[in-house]
Amino acid sequence: MGDKKASLAIVGAGMGGLAAAATLRQAGFDVRVYEQAPAFARVGAGVQMMPNSVKVLRGIGVEDPLRRVAFQPYSHLNREWDTGRVMRELPMPEDLFGAPYLCMHRADLHDALLHAVPPEIIHLDKKLVGLDRRASAVELRFADGTRAQADAVIGADGVHSVVRDIIIGPDMPIHRGRVAYRAVFSKTLLNGFDIGPSRTKWWGPDRHIVIYYTNPARTELYFVTSVPEPAEWLTRESWSAMGDVGELRQAYESFHHDVRAVLEACPACHKWAILDRDPLARWSDGRVALLGDACHAMTPYMAQGAATAIEDGAVLARCLRETGDFEQAFQRYEAHRKPRTSRIQAISRANTWMKGGDDDTSWLYGYDAWRVPLTP
Ligand code: FAD
Repeated sequence: MGDKKASLAIVGAGMGGLAAAATLRQAGFDVRVYEQAPAFARVGAGVQMMPNSVKVLRGIGVEDPLRRVAFQPYSHLNREWDTGRVMRELPMPEDLFGAPYLCMHRADLHDALLHAVPPEIIHLDKKLVGLDRRASAVELRFADGTRAQADAVIGADGVHSVVRDIIIGPDMPIHRGRVAYRAVFSKTLLNGFDIGPSRTKWWGPDRHIVIYYTNPARTELYFVTSVPEPAEWLTRESWSAMGDVGELRQAYESFHHDVRAVLEACPACHKWAILDRDPLARWSDGRVALLGDACHAMTPYMAQGAATAIEDGAVLARCLRETGDFEQAFQRYEAHRKPRTSRIQAISRANTWMKGGDDDTSWLYGYDAWRVPLTP
């Protein structure tokens, strides 16, 4: 890539794009990020960061800020929907997988990632509409008529990726007739009831709900469900669409008292159509590569979508630093990452992770994207 600092344009300032901006800057690249949104909003949602992604965050200086705002659950707890019987519990002390397990407000994670890069490299209100690929550079075209140029482009523009459409072709999401209700609200609404020190998943025959605190003081909690949707409620995935709390409570009326107590207290909820996608045939074309949901979107059942997007950033930076050619580096990155993300996509789709038994979890949570040997 020569002596001059090579330039990289990242499309999308979500979890994956921001993490990659930090890892790629550390690897010595001149990075610019282009985001379609005019500003970042505080969307009501929680997010779990497992030790595998916290190790990447540690490497870009984001672990400590997160520890200050996140809840650290005692365990990954799985319970039967009606009796409350423990189906599987995995205590998550920090030394088990070399990093803490952190649960937080999604906006707090995004904010911490934003602070890991200089503000001047992030360009808001830049919706990518086209790419002109040349022999030694790529030109980006935006909806406002402006253009930018970079030596290579990383498409971190999420599930509806325009970059993916350009380099691979349009992709149709798979709708499986399920929706996720979710809400973040104050613990005071629980009138003294405590959801406990763990992140709990309650498994029903055809639906589930995951509940956890989102801050160290345990003053705010979050839940997210997966439930069959009888009506034809199919929207594009949207963080802002609202749901009906009455319908939600009805869907869980036969669940354990602890679940009903949370849903009774919930003042309002959002609703999201859960869409699924198959692994892509390839992740790059010449000087353009994909990252995160753009290339391996998955159902949220293993809480690994953002985590794997963040892992991608570390491996991509290592491949680009060690390989003197964009195309080769991108192929090496895909060769290393795709087997892992495809495996996670498949288990996530089946929704069997930690449902019971004692299957090995170390391949998932013990993974260290900074140290794992890379295929030559
Ligand atoms: P995104 O975060 O979607 O970011 C893409 C960015 O690109 C956005 O900012 C978007 O505005 C921008 N963009 C899009 N198009 C353009 C364009 N044309 N030009 C410029 N910018 C563009 N994952 C976890 O790890 N843990 C969890 O606990 C978890 N819980 C979840 C719960 C729910 C209900 C859902 C739906 C998902 C959950 N996930 C979780 C998954 C996680 O949210 C996603 O996998 C993650 O956000 C993907 O990150 P990304 O950077 O690839 O994409």
